[in-house]
Amino acid sequence: MEPKVLIMGPPGAGKGTQSTRIAEEYGLEHITTGDALRSNKEMDISHLDAEYDTPGEFMDAGDLVPDAVVDAIVAEALDSAGGFVLDGYPRNPDQAEALDGMTDLDVVLALNVSRAELIDRLTGRRVDPETGENYHVEFDVPDDDAVRERLVQREDDTREAVENRLDVFEAETEPAIQQYHDHEGYVEIDGEQSPDAVWSDIDAAIRGKVEGS
Ligand code: AMP
Repeated sequence: MEPKVLIMGPPGAGKGTQSTRIAEEYGLEHITTGDALRSNKEMDISHLDAEYDTPGEFMDAGDLVPDAVVDAIVAEALDSAGGFVLDGYPRNPDQAEALDGMTDLDVVLALNVSRAELIDRLTGRRVDPETGENYHVEFDVPDDDAVRERLVQREDDTREAVENRLDVFEAETEPAIQQYHDHEGYVEIDGEQSPDAVWSDIDAAIRGKVEGS
């Protein structure tokens, strides 16, 4: 079974954690625009004549990187993928339309989490620069003192950038999610549960959609 899975939801909903698990358990390619862009923060995109000349500047402000850049990343990744889980894209209705022209999806997961919970999760998130592992100042403190001392906050997890990212989500990404409401693979998942409970709902949803089709 190599389903084509899209996972959508606001920043901080747990898309990264859950999509990593989906990819592992189902043996799927994990395609994530956030990670792809973080590895290409300094890319010269001045030819697009947008507000900034590199992806990193959009990201640090919590704004969306221009569609042309992300559409190309996803098109190239999908080209070589069989089954996949796509995370972080599409983030606006135009990207949803572009994706529609690239592939057919089997499952569309929409993770729901309240804004207040997202702010707590994101502003408290810290990253280990050596391993890339995520922690949280309250909910997930590392046992190892050395790890705790080297944790850093992502530039876009500051309060100001987080508020902006959530505003961008509500204005641009929510309308894109709406477009999938009538998709036969569409399932809403309660993202406020524990990661294991969310996983269990996701696993059941994927099996239900793939076996039911
Ligand atoms: P993420 O790790 O998914 O929260 O993405 C981090 C940042 O990368 C976002 O705040 C955007 O600046 C940028 N980004 C990721 N995916 C996209 C996308 N599909 N369209 C535009 N910008 C994106």
